[in-house]
Amino acid sequence: MAENAQAEALAKEAAASFPCGGCGGPMRFDADAQALKCQYCGAEQAIDRMPGQPEEHALEDEGEEDAALTDWGTEQQAIHCESCGGESLIPAGQTATLCAFCGSPKVLPQGNPGSIRPESVIPFQISQAEAIEQFKKWKRKRWFLPNDFKKQDPASRLTGIYVPYWTFDTNTYSVYSAEVGVYHYRTVTRTRVVNGKTETYTEQERYTVWHWTNGDYDRGFDDILIPASGHYDQGLLEKLGDFDLRKLTGYRPEYLSGFVAERYSVSRSQGWQAARHQAASVLDHEIRREIGGDEIRNLNIRTHYNDVTYKHLLLPVWNAAYAYKTKTYRYMVNGQTGTVSGRVPRSAVKITFFVLGCLAAAMVALALWGQYSGS
Ligand SMILES: [Zn+2]
Ligand SMILES: [Zn+2]
Repeated sequence: MAENAQAEALAKEAAASFPCGGCGGPMRFDADAQALKCQYCGAEQAIDRMPGQPEEHALEDEGEEDAALTDWGTEQQAIHCESCGGESLIPAGQTATLCAFCGSPKVLPQGNPGSIRPESVIPFQISQAEAIEQFKKWKRKRWFLPNDFKKQDPASRLTGIYVPYWTFDTNTYSVYSAEVGVYHYRTVTRTRVVNGKTETYTEQERYTVWHWTNGDYDRGFDDILIPASGHYDQGLLEKLGDFDLRKLTGYRPEYLSGFVAERYSVSRSQGWQAARHQAASVLDHEIRREIGGDEIRNLNIRTHYNDVTYKHLLLPVWNAAYAYKTKTYRYMVNGQTGTVSGRVPRSAVKITFFVLGCLAAAMVALALWGQYSGS
């Protein structure tokens, strides 16, 4: 695609990593074929699936990463953007001219960062052309679009980015103590004065009986998902909807050919803190349910997190920027499901007319109401 100079550059550079066996051209991962495809002669090459389940790593080995953990299959370099702070990973032979996140040309190669390599990936299922189609469809359903923007489709600069996530598994053992309150009712006799006469009547009155309780609680957690992308439009990223994690497949460097992997900016230990926080709130909720009663106070939970393991995942997102008049807007497309989230220009004229229309309707309603209630 001519307007997509960056993707084209990526495709050329990918030659260094995966040359075509037939013509030597660059091979990229193709969403439709789910295989490597030569950009010149169209030859396809299947990708060997990793056998079995992706490996999960024990969390205790903090500090120095061993070499196996950071081996991406091809040598990687980090690209740092001076405009937005984004960090992406691309093969060492490749050069990036524009930031994959914000499109800024202020990008600097950082050398090999020794990043932990992902265990599993959801390869792109939605091709770039499909992503653009999805955006066009989505755009037409937005309100208050300027007419010229509604009719013509903007040339977008799309980059396929693998967005980083962590998942954590852990077994937990908790001991707890708390005061449980149980509601009881008693019948009380009261008096009141009715028409100058004193009469007695009975009423149900609630009171709470408190007692201490304690116990223990076992719970395993599987795949607590924590986003590890820290720097770009989180609002847009969240609206992309859920990924179907059952479609995760073992990491192969071929899946990254022609795409950019975002470097995680939430570290593994920060990710674990967030996962622990999620687990703790689930435990709090479940232990309260187990304790029962009508009220709980002074709840104290102490939890041991055992057998903590983590995985590093990459999930596919099309990131796009387009210009309308003098402003830049962006949108994202879920690379697995095609769900779109984005920002579009608004027509000030249409919004003004809409507001005036609402005001007019409100005034008519008020006038009518005045007529009916006044008569
Ligand atoms: Zn070829
Ligand atoms: Zn940037």
